[in-house]
Amino acid sequence: MKILNNRVELEQFVSEAKKQNKSIGFAPTMGALHDGHISLYKEARKENNLVISSIFVNPTQFNNPEDLEKYPRTVEKDIEKLDDSGLVDAVYVPSVEDIYPDNLESKHYDFNDLENEMEGAARPGHFDGVGTVIERLFEQVQPDNAYFGEKDFQQLRIIEALVDNLKLSVKIHGVKIHRQDDGLAMSSRNMRLSEEERNASTIIYQTLKKVNDWFRVITIPEIKNRVEEIVENQKGMELEYFLIADEETLKETDFFYKDKNYRAFMVVNVGKVRLIDNMHLD
Ligand code: AMP
Repeated sequence: MKILNNRVELEQFVSEAKKQNKSIGFAPTMGALHDGHISLYKEARKENNLVISSIFVNPTQFNNPEDLEKYPRTVEKDIEKLDDSGLVDAVYVPSVEDIYPDNLESKHYDFNDLENEMEGAARPGHFDGVGTVIERLFEQVQPDNAYFGEKDFQQLRIIEALVDNLKLSVKIHGVKIHRQDDGLAMSSRNMRLSEEERNASTIIYQTLKKVNDWFRVITIPEIKNRVEEIVENQKGMELEYFLIADEETLKETDFFYKDKNYRAFMVVNVGKVRLIDNMHLD
């Protein structure tokens, strides 16, 4: 596996690939890699000649400086994990200057209103930061296909909107949430949980499964009440939001319509760790 330490090294790699007509599959990450990330590379491996990943903790998508500072940085371990997986041909590890040569500012985007829901409402400016880094990475990596996890479902929908609005030639693929055996969605943040918090966090997946059972059986306000009750009864856990939304518009709904797809979204603060999860309802 090649390690591309700066933009020049990346551009040489990409230009060689393009000369040889090789298709490029790309999965960007912020590092602290786990098996959820690996599932993106597995998908990419199936349909591309070359698989490129990137590791870059993007400052502009953090609205909370403490969160940015505390974000785990384990680049050497990550590179080892990528190499061991045997799924990745090259990893791009840019500096802040490679991505933001002029200033550390986000561009402002219109993502068809998707940016104002859930994570956008909770974290002002977050999706402008995500859009900016992804647009720049796409310019530099020039992928044919790019892979994003459904774990961050709103982010996936926003990147689809970015590609659509800017008419970029990359195809976006969503990858199912990779969970641990007890159902907890894999996340770089899980390593910040104490053992007790880690065990208690399984309630998130268990609750989402119950929501799926209740879906179309009881009303949405009733489902919300039950979810609030379950989480609030857990010591050290606080429900930041729970809602059911239309998968297209990401707008919260209080009613089900027959021909639409719905998804439950929740964010729970477990001690100081903010955990995010979601589930398609069927
Ligand atoms: P991150 O490094 O957290 O920015 O995540 C990089 C990519 O991996 C994003 O597309 C995430 O949605 C995806 N991802 C993170 N955790 C998971 C997971 N448990 N299952 C599937 N994809 C994931």
